Amino acid sequence: MSFVTGLRCRECGRRYPTEALHVCDFCFGPLEVDYDYERIAASVSAASIAAGPRTIWRYRDLLPVDDATPVDLGAGFTPLHRADRLAAELGLGELWIKDDTANPTGSFKDRVVSVALTKARQLGFKVAACASTGNLANSVAAHAARAGMTSIVLIPHDLEEAKVTMTAVYGGTVVAVRGSYDDVNRLCAELASEHPSWAFVNVNVRTYYSEGSKTLAFEIAEQLDWRAPDHVVVPIASGSQLTKVAKGFGELAKVGLIDPSPIRVSGAQAAGCAPVATAFASGADAIAPVKPKTIAKSLSIGNPADGWYALDTIRRSGGACAAVTDDEVLDGIRLLARTEGIFAETAGGVTIATLAKLAAGGQVRRDERVVALVTGHGLKTVEALSGTVGPTATIGPTLADFDAAVGDDVSNGASR
Ligand SMILES: *Cc1c(COP(=O)(O)O)cnc(C)c1O
Ligand SMILES: [Zn+2]
Repeated sequence: MSFVTGLRCRECGRRYPTEALHVCDFCFGPLEVDYDYERIAASVSAASIAAGPRTIWRYRDLLPVDDATPVDLGAGFTPLHRADRLAAELGLGELWIKDDTANPTGSFKDRVVSVALTKARQLGFKVAACASTGNLANSVAAHAARAGMTSIVLIPHDLEEAKVTMTAVYGGTVVAVRGSYDDVNRLCAELASEHPSWAFVNVNVRTYYSEGSKTLAFEIAEQLDWRAPDHVVVPIASGSQLTKVAKGFGELAKVGLIDPSPIRVSGAQAAGCAPVATAFASGADAIAPVKPKTIAKSLSIGNPADGWYALDTIRRSGGACAAVTDDEVLDGIRLLARTEGIFAETAGGVTIATLAKLAAGGQVRRDERVVALVTGHGLKTVEALSGTVGPTATIGPTLADFDAAVGDDVSNGASR
């Protein structure tokens, strides 16, 4: 059973069938999946969801997949950790970390790819393709292998080693392009029109792909006992995730699973690629593209497809958007690891450092229930930390060496 009523242009409202379509023929606006929320409200409950699998597929009635068997590696239902030690350091009250490092390929992209390839397979596609800053590549290659589909993945040539290895190991075709992500993306737009028989995750099936990000909102609300947070802090690359997290909370209110209450949505970017934060700060109405230069490669999209919608979502919700330097990103990674035992990739460092900045500036408040999205695992970007963390000491295998190297305060359990 499906509650999808079709696709609808976000700008002019024209309707389209649920095929591999992503832009409106009339106004070039992006297409959105539309659902029959009254029927969903009548048939979906907290109990029916709780009876589902412990993955994103427990929310399938709010996903655009009809009865298709999911392409499933177990994405989603990741931990939501109460983060009191981090909250204390930042001067915040009720703080939670949504830990998407726990996904099958180590990033939130498994949510969107699981949905996109499920729909692609249902539509009859045999080839899954994408342009990626790294995490999408990992996830498309893995889920295509799982689905028995061919994968063709295009990445910038200078990605982190772990992300290249983690893509290539699944046996698909991986093409490194000499250029930035924005160059790769332009090439993919050309390839997509040459090869309409490929499911291009971030082109012709993007409408379905982006719906997967709503599951972050669904899980957060369910894990908070069907209460909404007051404020969520979300990293921005294309801006899709941020926009869809807001849509997800809106849908839960529409179908009566949470009370309709205002939720502030704030965006996090790296200063070396901050087109949305820059527009937010200047009050601009358009996003000016930038040339990315930051260690947060998974967020390095200089010309974000959904940047304007993300900015609009942030402004309407009363949230903020800020950017942090690469040094602050590394501080954010170490702070989260030290206080909460969660090792995030550079994108997670961006979120935590931005949260710290917004907390210090009073834009994230002590009286709010705050959720910060940590979207990728630290092992993906270990080189970012090289030279900054390592052994406390290197010693010979003797007690004397150990005692000389490790002080009494540590031996006595004094915390840092
Ligand atoms: C892709 C990605 C994001 C942001 O995704 P968009 O929807 O493009 O804004 C955030 N964090 C990580 C780790 C990612 O890989
Ligand atoms: Zn239109």
